[in-house]
Amino acid sequence: MKVAVQGCLHGDLDEIYASVAHLEQHENVRVDLVISCGDFQAIRNAGDLNSIAVPDKYKELKGFHRYYSGEKIAPYPTLFIGGNHEASNYLWELYYGGWVAPNIYYLGCSGVVRFGGLRIAGLSGIFDSQSYRLGHFEHPPYDRGSLRTVYHVREYEVRKLLHLKERSVDVFLSHDWPRGVANCGCCNRARLLRSKPYFRQEGDRDELGSPAAARLCNRIKPGHWFSAHFHVKFPAVIHHGNSIAEDTLTARQRGGTSDVPDGWMTPEVLERLGREGGQPSGRVTDQGQTKFLALDKCLPNRDFLQILDFPEAAGPKVLEHDAEWLAIVKRLHGEMPMERRPAACATDAASCPGPTAEEVRWVASRLEAAGGAAIKDSFCRTAPTQAEYEMGARQVGHHVRNPQTLALLELLDLPYQLDRNEGMGFGGGRGHQHRQRGNQQPHRGGGWQPGPPAHLVPSAVYLNQAVMAQDQNPEAIDIDIDVGVDVGSEGPGAAPALVPAQVYLNSQAAAHDQGNPEEIDLGL
Ligand SMILES: [Zn+2]
Ligand SMILES: [Zn+2]
Repeated sequence: MKVAVQGCLHGDLDEIYASVAHLEQHENVRVDLVISCGDFQAIRNAGDLNSIAVPDKYKELKGFHRYYSGEKIAPYPTLFIGGNHEASNYLWELYYGGWVAPNIYYLGCSGVVRFGGLRIAGLSGIFDSQSYRLGHFEHPPYDRGSLRTVYHVREYEVRKLLHLKERSVDVFLSHDWPRGVANCGCCNRARLLRSKPYFRQEGDRDELGSPAAARLCNRIKPGHWFSAHFHVKFPAVIHHGNSIAEDTLTARQRGGTSDVPDGWMTPEVLERLGREGGQPSGRVTDQGQTKFLALDKCLPNRDFLQILDFPEAAGPKVLEHDAEWLAIVKRLHGEMPMERRPAACATDAASCPGPTAEEVRWVASRLEAAGGAAIKDSFCRTAPTQAEYEMGARQVGHHVRNPQTLALLELLDLPYQLDRNEGMGFGGGRGHQHRQRGNQQPHRGGGWQPGPPAHLVPSAVYLNQAVMAQDQNPEAIDIDIDVGVDVGSEGPGAAPALVPAQVYLNSQAAAHDQGNPEEIDLGL
């Protein structure tokens, strides 16, 4: 199975699909799934621009709204996580995951799905130590403050994911990088610092990236880990030692200090410890590896896209629910913190044992009774299309109960609580907001027209690289606030696709790249 992974999307859906199609032709492959690692920008209409954290001058509709309205249909099944530039109001409606447009699926604030036999887990948002232990207190309409915290990773989401069994996940997605990955043994740190010299300080202090993601990587040890956010391609191989970092972390947590794991064991450290008979924390063994790959954002001649082959993945090429994950969602549902104060959240291994076999069986039987594990494309619109918006349709500012979320909660026999902090009471009842707030009757999936065939030629492509050179503050792009560099050009003569600088389909191709020996292992 071929998976096209890309870094930050920043609303450039047309360009990504055109680039994938270009690569399919060029490399003679067929891509089965497109994965985006965040900053997706699912802006449905201009009203959603009030819910995205970007400076006003970068508030643009970009391309998603045409997929939302049905004017265009995604030509590939597309899966994404959230980053720090999102239509946060829309993603909150689909907190547990859901279709944001036909054939485009949001994995949720945290989530696990299966596709073609691959088990794919993900964590949306970026890490911020100030918000990490707070509840999900933000709700639309967002004020200036909550607009900039709503996308911060919460410990509760990490707690849910920590219930996943070690090495049970093939692919893990996080928007920012797991902390420590830029310092692990098998990476080209020097090359990273050449392209991003302003990472040196954070890197030296081991403060680059997300400690929450590192913790998940340490515990779950997935086969692959894909990230974005820093707008640079960066491959690494993480060798997992024994639980030294986990022990250190637990000790630090007991001391009430920060949630910062140590860097991973490198092959060199493992070898040295073996030679010296050193056993700093019990047995030291290499417990497998995680192939890490971060990608750039969608710009010409940047490494924003990579096609990976998973030859062992031979299941049905449809998105499916993961029974074990849904059992975790059900078990921890009542614990979900919604207050703006630190919430006690146990994340040590003993507190995250995973669901029982009985809990998983219960979910599996519910799925079976509902017609199987495949996630039906039950997309429905809960906000006006851009055309309707321009004709005066009102975009509600408050939270909308998305029918997809209601259906999932019904499947799991759970109460609705995403609007709990709006003072609506815990169990407002299904359809409450439609009675009370009325004008946003969701359109069931049939509301959009089948429309013309998938539109592969981008309506806007980036042609003028000189504009890139005028970007005066590269740090602003990469560390905190991603500002889109709009150099769009429309019209005749536009290239049909953005060509990534390098695409590695397999290890042979990667091996030819003499400058980047670490990349050899990442193609498979
Ligand atoms: Zn980002
Ligand atoms: Zn970005």
